[in-house]
Amino acid sequence: MTVQSAAAVHLPEGCCFVDGRFLAMACIVQKFGGTSVADLDRIHNVARRVKAEVDRGNDVAVVVSAMAGATNQLVDYVSQASALHDTREYDAVVSSGEQVTAGLLALCLQEIGVPARSWMGWQIPIHTDDVHGKARITDVEPDRIKEKFGEGQVAVVAGFQGISPNGRITTLGRGGSDTSAVALAAALGAERCDIFTDVDGVYTTDPRIVPKARKLEKITYEEMLEMASLGAKVLQTRSVELAMNKGVRVQVLSSFEDTPGTLVVDEDEIVEKQVVSGIAYSRDEAKITLVQVEDRPGVAAGIFGPLADANINVDMIVQNVSPGGGATDLTFTVTRADLSRAVKLLEGRRDEISYKDLIHDDGVVKVSVIGVGMRSHAGVAKSMFTTLADKGINIQVISTSEIKISVLIDEEYTELALRALHTAYGLDAD
Ligand code: ASP
Ligand code: MG
Repeated sequence: MTVQSAAAVHLPEGCCFVDGRFLAMACIVQKFGGTSVADLDRIHNVARRVKAEVDRGNDVAVVVSAMAGATNQLVDYVSQASALHDTREYDAVVSSGEQVTAGLLALCLQEIGVPARSWMGWQIPIHTDDVHGKARITDVEPDRIKEKFGEGQVAVVAGFQGISPNGRITTLGRGGSDTSAVALAAALGAERCDIFTDVDGVYTTDPRIVPKARKLEKITYEEMLEMASLGAKVLQTRSVELAMNKGVRVQVLSSFEDTPGTLVVDEDEIVEKQVVSGIAYSRDEAKITLVQVEDRPGVAAGIFGPLADANINVDMIVQNVSPGGGATDLTFTVTRADLSRAVKLLEGRRDEISYKDLIHDDGVVKVSVIGVGMRSHAGVAKSMFTTLADKGINIQVISTSEIKISVLIDEEYTELALRALHTAYGLDAD
């Protein structure tokens, strides 16, 4: 059958007619971060990318961040106005950056003939709890946006914001527009959530340190979560959790280049599983050793209880029984920002805990190898340890999870360790 015009036939729902062909219509959510909307030229560029998706026959919702630097500026204003600020007013101020970009992008789309309308969180609405400054999305009502899709309109949504049960504007925590985009994609049943950013995908490790790092075609949600929590700050961690729970397929790609990015998907979608998919590192680590702590029940609770009460997160822990018995050395890590608070707290409790000495060191780095394939392959730890030993790198602390092995080493060896491990696990680009 040849069809001359779309008007000549009745199109089944979910289909559209483009360039003489029927296409199954999909819904795509696109998200553009701060650097992608940093000025009007870039917003025009974003509009062109949105139009390309519309021209493919898809329903499109676009989530935008504030212009690069805008949110920092707003946070600054708030702190200057009031040091101990009311978080409801913090949200009223810092959510405004996204309002500006949503309006501007809607205008730029209209300029190139794409019907578009801006949406603030409360207009959709995107419901959240009332934890101002770091609210969680509780529900997204997609119906009004869907109705406008029916009229061929693109929805331009202000990221990072929602509405509390009291009807006040909330924000989702820094980097929160990723989470807005994933939540919207889930509510709309979108085919994919494309996160456009200033990197072109997720790499096997930091390409600035390891020139042979490769862009991954696909990565699992779980691996991405481990990468994100280790400081590969491509996506807000919460957005990855949400994507995993709701089964939203996410793509990380560059807004400046026209190349496919990295798909973050369910394990089932990955046919050729690598044992190790990536190597991450975190410099945000500091090590504390309590020397010769009394070795009796309740000691660990006496140390880590008060740290937890002070909101100090402890990550890696090792305990050694000293020769002769009766005393043990205890080593653990905290973030660098928490180091001095942790040391002060432990020194204040020296008599209760009863230790001989406290040593601390913030010249350390945590290096982790990550891969879902580890669940079914033995020997991953062994090759990590031999590789580091061959380079003369001493391992200070080890911790493992089902899909991750982390070691704490001297910061000086970061590059050497990353490069050697990258080669050892066969990750180097040809
Ligand atoms: N503009 C907000 C921030 O800078 C949210 C975001 O960009 O994701 O944190
Ligand atoms: Mg971001």
